[in-house]
Amino acid sequence: MVAHTDSQPVSQPIHQTSLFSYSSFENLCTALANEYSMPVYTRGRNPSVTSVEKKLAALERGEACKLFASGMGAISAAITGLVNQGEHIIFINQVYSPTIQLAEQLSRFGVTFTYLTSGDPEQLEAAIRPQTRLIWFESPATMTFKRIDISKVVAIAHRHGILTGIDNTWATPLLQKPITLGVDIVAHSLTKYIGGHSDVVAGALISRHAVLKQIFYRTFLLNGAALGPMDAWLIERGLRTLSVRLQQQEASALAIGRFLEGHPKVSRIYHPAWQEDAPPAETNPLAGYNGLISFSLKPADFASVTRFLNALKQFRLGVSWGGFESLAISLQRPENAEQLAAMNLPQGLIRLSVGLEAVQTLINDLEQAFTHV
Ligand SMILES: *Cc1c(COP(=O)(O)O)cnc(C)c1O
Repeated sequence: MVAHTDSQPVSQPIHQTSLFSYSSFENLCTALANEYSMPVYTRGRNPSVTSVEKKLAALERGEACKLFASGMGAISAAITGLVNQGEHIIFINQVYSPTIQLAEQLSRFGVTFTYLTSGDPEQLEAAIRPQTRLIWFESPATMTFKRIDISKVVAIAHRHGILTGIDNTWATPLLQKPITLGVDIVAHSLTKYIGGHSDVVAGALISRHAVLKQIFYRTFLLNGAALGPMDAWLIERGLRTLSVRLQQQEASALAIGRFLEGHPKVSRIYHPAWQEDAPPAETNPLAGYNGLISFSLKPADFASVTRFLNALKQFRLGVSWGGFESLAISLQRPENAEQLAAMNLPQGLIRLSVGLEAVQTLINDLEQAFTHV
């Protein structure tokens, strides 16, 4: 006879509850005094959420993880939880633009920032001030997927006693583990590859307990951007297939890159495999690629970009990326040439998020869309 209690669900239960009751007032008081580690109220902690947090912390080789209701929920809680009035932030490489918009808002609270789109170590050294508290970056970068030397950034920051934070959404913990390179805080939009099915918005921070605890009490609990148990369950489901989805999407994006490479209406490909000044592999390991690839269209004007995008039949037009469905988008507008140049972005840039469809179908779609340019 096998005991009934020996059975275990292979899928985690969804703890759809707003609060947790305790058998005695003393125990409730203990839980309330330790809300960082004990479930009291789902805005702070919930077992369905904790289950995912443990997995992400382990994958990123961090001490702990907190999930948030969105990637921006995570990023804003980190930045506003760590940076004080009068302090300064440096952003490097192309950073997700709402993160920069958040930094602009922080000027109302006396926080200043410098935005260096190059990722050049000498420029970084020169931008450091006595008030610099945080260096925040992406590598590979949003839109062009340009990589910078993470280990060099960390060395410079730590020499000056400055915290480092990376938005690791592009890589997921499967392709890059920045904490192993010395980065202090890792942020994710789980909405992209980790969720993977375009059906949930979520975010995460991974760091040391000391850093996460400060963020937990200063911003996470008070901003209230907590992830619900049902959405946490969807993220856990996404994690189970992340590795196979990434492998398929990597292969498809590389095949599309090889097709675009020789095309007369493509002037340049943006993908880490095509980057000429990639950082040294020994100090910046990257275990693979994902399904993102950008290219600049020839001619690069807004009307040509519009004709190309409108002609696509398999690729849908929309924001976000990392789902099962292929997507295309451009930041190009009729009159934003200067703005794009300030962000170090070329004219005519089109970003593809390659999904899980048959790659030849996608290549045929691109081929026919080029004939409309
Ligand atoms: C989407 C995204 C975010 C924001 O995440 P949300 O879940 O949409 O709030 C942050 N950083 C990067 C690189 C992203 O792609």
